[in-house]
Amino acid sequence: MAEKSTELISGGIIKKDPAKLRLTSNLQGYDNLRKTFKWSDADKLVEWFPGGKINAAYNVVDRHAKGPNANKIALIYDDGEGNAQKVTFKQLYEQTNRFANLMKKLGIKRQDRVFFFLQRSPELYAGFLGAIKYGAIASPMFPAFGPDAIKDRLLDSGAVCLVTDSDLKKRFYEVKSLLPELKHTIIVGKDVAPDELSWEKEMASASDKFETVPMDPEEFMYLLYTSGSTGKPKGVVHAHKGIVQAHLTAKWVLDIHEEDVYWCGADLGWVTGVVYGVLGPWSNGVTQIGLGGRFDPDRWYKTIQNYKVSIWYTAPTAVRMLMAKGDDTPKKYDLSSLRALYCVGEPLNPEGVRWAQEVFDNKPFHDTWWQTETGSILITNFPGMDIKPGSMGKPQPGIEAAIVDETGKVLEQGEEGSLAIRPGWPSMMRQIWKNPAKYNEYFRNGWYYTGDTAQVDKDGYFWYVGRADDVIKTSGERVGPFEVESALIEHEAVAEAGVIGKPDDLRGNIIKAFIVLTPGHTESDALKADIQKHVKSRLAGHAYPREIEVVIDLPKTRSGKIMRRLLRARELGLPIGDISTLDD
Ligand code: ATP
Ligand code: MG
Repeated sequence: MAEKSTELISGGIIKKDPAKLRLTSNLQGYDNLRKTFKWSDADKLVEWFPGGKINAAYNVVDRHAKGPNANKIALIYDDGEGNAQKVTFKQLYEQTNRFANLMKKLGIKRQDRVFFFLQRSPELYAGFLGAIKYGAIASPMFPAFGPDAIKDRLLDSGAVCLVTDSDLKKRFYEVKSLLPELKHTIIVGKDVAPDELSWEKEMASASDKFETVPMDPEEFMYLLYTSGSTGKPKGVVHAHKGIVQAHLTAKWVLDIHEEDVYWCGADLGWVTGVVYGVLGPWSNGVTQIGLGGRFDPDRWYKTIQNYKVSIWYTAPTAVRMLMAKGDDTPKKYDLSSLRALYCVGEPLNPEGVRWAQEVFDNKPFHDTWWQTETGSILITNFPGMDIKPGSMGKPQPGIEAAIVDETGKVLEQGEEGSLAIRPGWPSMMRQIWKNPAKYNEYFRNGWYYTGDTAQVDKDGYFWYVGRADDVIKTSGERVGPFEVESALIEHEAVAEAGVIGKPDDLRGNIIKAFIVLTPGHTESDALKADIQKHVKSRLAGHAYPREIEVVIDLPKTRSGKIMRRLLRARELGLPIGDISTLDD
């Protein structure tokens, strides 16, 4: 089959000249490494205890605190109002030790579940890593969760300890009586009830010395629930061994160097915040920025300018919002410190890649593909590699990815099918918490089925088509919502778009688009016709939206992903399902 629409939406290839990059890429000789790389090579990048034991937190914190990086700034935490706090690796080490000693004092057992319901703060980082060095299973929750989302997670996981703050605890109080297994509540802040512990007091009296617990590499490190884009969030469990791949991908993909200043915008309540906002970067000993507060373009650009951020990891939803804000805003700031830009969470529209090139002085976004379940980036655009805008890039060395059918047969280049990975990579999930049946569903015919539909082109680049559930069958053809959405947002009147299939007697389904207009545009039939014309000019004839509905905003998960299942349910009058992760 010929390469199809993927080339259409790609526009031009972005050529790289590796010799002109500001820093030499950590990853050299990709093609060769694809053939020769063994995971045992990566094991050497992290430190092990005798007898093959390991602790991820030792690699993230202790080894730097005990070496030449002890007084290097690990974290610059900015509360979003411009109040900055700096924490060195040594200070982080001492804080995590104090928290581990508090766990010991409370009688928390190895592999008990310890939860964090906190705004991003130095306390959150210290608690999360302290629990891991102690041998508990740590789990951060997104601070905007409502009572139901909190209850679901604490109940499902049998959490025994919760760290929260004086403000957020009010939401927890609504469901507290439903959580018999929860024994300890630790409060950051002043308002501490008699049956609660004060973070300040306990941390002040705990010793700052602790011997990090050597763990079996297969023992669990953290538990995190998926984003809930396709249904009820799943409790994904990751093992300490995962640090090997978090380290390697932060080095090879995010290209972290000693002198970088790194900023990952994701909250720790999502896997990106844990793996690339804590584990991978710090394992590589880099200084990172933690920014509190809500999305605000000016504050974001100011963060890059003021802290001289050189590597920036963000999400397509943020990119689209920055694009909608216009190109004048970034011009007000000095963003010349940036050297590499990355994105994850949803497909990154080619328009976003090109926009970044314009606005950030020839630095495009690098799309990275992975999932909560995969525990680290598996398919990506590497810094030294040409980018085809709209493509997720190529597999990480050590990862065998393919497009397969339901029998596990590998499909030809250009054919659309299930994106599958050969199981056995170090950061692969070890369990869906207390749900072996769900876990087993992922593994069929010797492959891990990702639930995403994709295709691969003649150069080995992977192209995302959509979630298996979101792919639209219209007039006998399969259409991925992503390519239609990408074409839509190229139109100057369209800021965001969500596309679904709507049942139709004649065509099986028609394509319906929900769009958010950019400021200055108003809804009219003429505008809709013009938008349709634009999509027709970009994609195959059947792939344009016959219906367009203008909306104020799109339903999204709190991590910013378009929830197409909700657009579908509303349109078709179906039950809306789990909405615990729906944004306000
Ligand atoms: P749930 O599994 O609960 O439905 P979710 O799949 O959104 O939610 P995550 O693990 O946070 O939960 O997200 C992984 C998914 O996000 C991928 O399976 C894919 O559909 C999408 N995704 C992530 N990165 C990319 C990317 N670079 N390009 C396209 N899709 C991506
Ligand atoms: Mg998923």
